[in-house]
Amino acid sequence: MCDVCTVEGKDWKFMNGKHSNLVRSRLFNIYEGKVAHLSLCLIHDIELFMLGENRFLEEHLHLARQLATNKEKYASKV
Ligand SMILES: [Zn+2]
Repeated sequence: MCDVCTVEGKDWKFMNGKHSNLVRSRLFNIYEGKVAHLSLCLIHDIELFMLGENRFLEEHLHLARQLATNKEKYASKV
């Protein structure tokens, strides 16, 4: 499952059609000294690349809140 689509209640397989592979992405600025790992669908992976980490989180506030409240789930050492 795409982490963004999941928190936003989107059907990522429908949104991405045949491009239903998930990409492992990393966010470097969210946790101090740790990297946040996300599974992203193609659409959200491209969006992250285009917007950059900070604007991406502004666009996806549900995800930002998830990352803040479930740190153990997403964070790992660099
Ligand atoms: Zn997605």
